[in-house]
Amino acid sequence: MEESYHVEGEEIVPLVIAVPKELAEGEKRVALVPEVVQKLTKAGHEVRIEHDAGSRAFYPDDLFTAAGGRILSSRVELLEGARVVVCVQPPAVEDIDRLAEGTIVIGFMNPARNTDAVIRMRDRKITAFALELVPRITRAQSMDALSSQATAGGYAAAVLGAAHTPKFLPMLTTAAGTIRPATVLILGAGVAGLMAIATAKRLGAVVEAYDVRRAAGEQVRSLGAKFIELEINAEGQGGYARELTAEEKASEQQLVSAAVARADIVITTASIPGKKAPLLITKETVATMRPGAVIVDLAAESGGNCQETEPGRTVQVQGVTILGPLNLPGQVPFHSSQMFAKNLQSFLALLVDKEGALVREFSDEILAASLLVHAGEVRHGPTRDLLAGRGA
Ligand code: NAD
Repeated sequence: MEESYHVEGEEIVPLVIAVPKELAEGEKRVALVPEVVQKLTKAGHEVRIEHDAGSRAFYPDDLFTAAGGRILSSRVELLEGARVVVCVQPPAVEDIDRLAEGTIVIGFMNPARNTDAVIRMRDRKITAFALELVPRITRAQSMDALSSQATAGGYAAAVLGAAHTPKFLPMLTTAAGTIRPATVLILGAGVAGLMAIATAKRLGAVVEAYDVRRAAGEQVRSLGAKFIELEINAEGQGGYARELTAEEKASEQQLVSAAVARADIVITTASIPGKKAPLLITKETVATMRPGAVIVDLAAESGGNCQETEPGRTVQVQGVTILGPLNLPGQVPFHSSQMFAKNLQSFLALLVDKEGALVREFSDEILAASLLVHAGEVRHGPTRDLLAGRGA
């Protein structure tokens, strides 16, 4: 009964769901879109949206109003009156201070990098669900915001690469001669990588891909791309990759460098949960690339897969353009917000019962796994250990 919200005999009041404007630099996404707001208001909830919250994703206030939402110009009023707050980026400490005890916050929390916010939510007895902790089980697919946003990021990476190469991607036979198709190499064929492969294929490029998980080979080939085989299979827990041994890393870099040297565009997406991104393209390998070649490093935020990557910047190294974009899903904010909002809609459905009241406990496997902070405690083991290690 410790996790109970609804007191026996208490009148069930509609949930007040608040959508604050995202304040992180360069963040254009919004947590809910009008289509989802309409579904929630029809189900009896009250949805309040901060003025202009959706405008950078091209969802103006009037569309939210038409969907039954209420626009509020005061962020303080919005946060103070909320039962549930939905956000894309982790909440700022000043915003947490405005929430009533027991308020539920749902969004990406990136707990390892936002320990101040985690501590404040713990101390103020906020209940926070971290969408990146939603388990990757079939039932949770509709709530998997990591996947939906990686899909958007993979698409944006391929388009960005195409925009920066001095070449056409497709083969062209014209009166002015025949153009050979560009070669696109994708390193890391997870959710983002597969979307980048599909997008580059649609643009007409010849696509090659590599991943340390051998299981990715079948998916790569099914998209019509060539899978580069290496004698490594680093399938780790939960479908993710494990870190390679020093020997494996050396043979990987060797194999990868030959493929990188022949590519016009390289899109790197390799990552290992909770670790620094693996280094796949060394300075020496960049020096072997053709002038005009492009690298789009999706792992820029977690250290980069290329040694020359500068997070958030585009640099030129000996004629090679290296992009280290941060928040690529935010570059296609209309659709990435739409997908994120659908993920939230599915997640919220787990939190309310048939009468529309908050569930009494978080025993559901998905809720339990994604519960980061609750009732004054950090519930996520690795984050709790991290804070304990810092004496916080
Ligand atoms: P991710 O973002 O953690 O990593 C991206 C890719 O990098 C992964 O494919 C990983 O294998 C690869 N990688 C790691 N180290 C590498 C290295 N040294 N060299 C080359 N590649 C390297 O992964 P992700 O995209 O979130 O997905 C990982 C897995 O989870 C995939 O198998 C995916 O199909 C699976 N998945 C399952 C579900 C579900 O069942 N609901 C949902 C989403 C993803």
